[in-house]
Amino acid sequence: MQTIRGFRDILPEQISLWQKVEKEAILLFEDFGFKEIRIPILEKTQLFARSIGEVTDIVEKEMYTFKDRNGEKLTLRPEATASIVRSYIQHKMYAVDPVRKFYMIGPMFRRERPQKGRYRQFYQIDAEIFGVESAYVDSQLIFLLNELFKRLGLTGLSAHINSLGCPECRPSFQKALLDFIESKKDRLCENCLRRMDKNPLRILDCKVEDCRKALANAPATLDHLCKECSDHFDTVKTTLEKQGLDFSVDKSLVRGLDYYTRTAWEIQTTSLGAQSAVAGGGRYDGLVKELGGPQTPAIGFAIGFDRLVEVMEQIDKTPGDSPLDLFIVSLGDVAMEKAYHWSCELNQADIRTEMDFRGKSMKALMKRADKLNAQHVLIAGENELMENAVILRNMNTKEQVSLALKTLVPELIKILKK
Ligand code: AMP
Repeated sequence: MQTIRGFRDILPEQISLWQKVEKEAILLFEDFGFKEIRIPILEKTQLFARSIGEVTDIVEKEMYTFKDRNGEKLTLRPEATASIVRSYIQHKMYAVDPVRKFYMIGPMFRRERPQKGRYRQFYQIDAEIFGVESAYVDSQLIFLLNELFKRLGLTGLSAHINSLGCPECRPSFQKALLDFIESKKDRLCENCLRRMDKNPLRILDCKVEDCRKALANAPATLDHLCKECSDHFDTVKTTLEKQGLDFSVDKSLVRGLDYYTRTAWEIQTTSLGAQSAVAGGGRYDGLVKELGGPQTPAIGFAIGFDRLVEVMEQIDKTPGDSPLDLFIVSLGDVAMEKAYHWSCELNQADIRTEMDFRGKSMKALMKRADKLNAQHVLIAGENELMENAVILRNMNTKEQVSLALKTLVPELIKILKK
């Protein structure tokens, strides 16, 4: 049996970087006042169709959708924002305090063509802020991302930002875009032509090389911003500049989802080939209302966890297992029983301790201690036990001490906790 195409195991040998990222991210989120939210993996299909947009790549061709036994259409979540918005509305969180900050970490599912950095089950680290219209939170989220990447030792990442405008400025942009597309019609693929009537903005997501060339000079939302959107974007840029953050304005950045308004951004890397986006985010001031809640401005981002780890692997190739504090070598049944109790008590005291229950020889057990990178080995053989003592060997200095059985566990805790 093998995993399904585009799905993969993250093995224990690979996990240390995942844990490192998760630890740093949670620490930072908590510092910035975010609280964790956990949302279901399965939702009604309608939630994603209405929020991401019926005429988008994700909804049209990438979702894992199936009919439940009662005929209801369900979908494995392709992203987190829609579910978090649903939760915000469902629990009327706005009634208690409209300003809410959430983060979540977990798997997402999209049936894309698998390649390096692109999987059908992938993981995202997601953050969302509800109830704040100020451009400062746009800058703050980009700052937070930058800080996280800095703490993880990542360099060579670049922030690309754009403004997608609001319902006020959309019509003028859409008109300009449609006029432009009309003039390039004969060079566009069937999918683009179909989208012309339904959702012209999504033509800009087309990956077909000929379409990309034809659309190279397409009108940009940035040139059609209303006064409020333009001021908003200026504040984001000025704030980032004052904080000394590097970014570039990218007029062609449109993201692939319908709900975005105003600021949108991507953090890109040059080290992953085609899959250059490590994180993406944006404002979605209309989505809470669209899904049935009160008008609530909101903004968020998602980090591609798999890609982030892949970038880190290029820097830190041998993260290595963290060492074991103690390995207990027990020889004979009596020693094994004692060792069992000692090891449980030491584990209870947060000392990383292991032993072996297979009745192996001294030589085999010492080999295993080495393999597990044990810093200390406790040797409990029949001779030692007869003398009511055991030997503790420091594997780095090779020093040995004899420890009395009577006070063994507290003594070990004292030595190993240092
Ligand atoms: P999105 O939800 O499309 O804005 O994506 C946010 C981030 O998730 C992207 O910048 C990628 O880093 C990551 N991502 C999206 N799709 C995939 C995928 N199929 N495999 C791995 N990472 C992905």
